Amino acid sequence: MGSLDMAVLTGFICRICSKMNKVVTHVYGEEGKKINLANQLQNYLGVDIFFNNDLPKTVCNSCIVKLKMHYEWMEIIKNAQTRIKNKRLKTRMERDRRS
Ligand SMILES: [Zn+2]
Repeated sequence: MGSLDMAVLTGFICRICSKMNKVVTHVYGEEGKKINLANQLQNYLGVDIFFNNDLPKTVCNSCIVKLKMHYEWMEIIKNAQTRIKNKRLKTRMERDRRS
């Protein structure tokens, strides 16, 4: 049995959790491109997706949901760090002005 037959029977392997799934999002598919899946995998999970290697380029729905939550959480952290640093800088500048 070829690998394509296997895929039809059991589904596609998820690149994140390695489980087989019938419903997946392809990194280079319409939905994958829309949510910038390749970049999210690379930037937030350290999973490198290359167009021309033979590693799975599909992600299951459960992992898509988790990735989205993780992405939003990372954005919150990033923005919070900027806010904290700016506030500290402002306080320091005000202190310097007074002395
Ligand atoms: Zn998964």
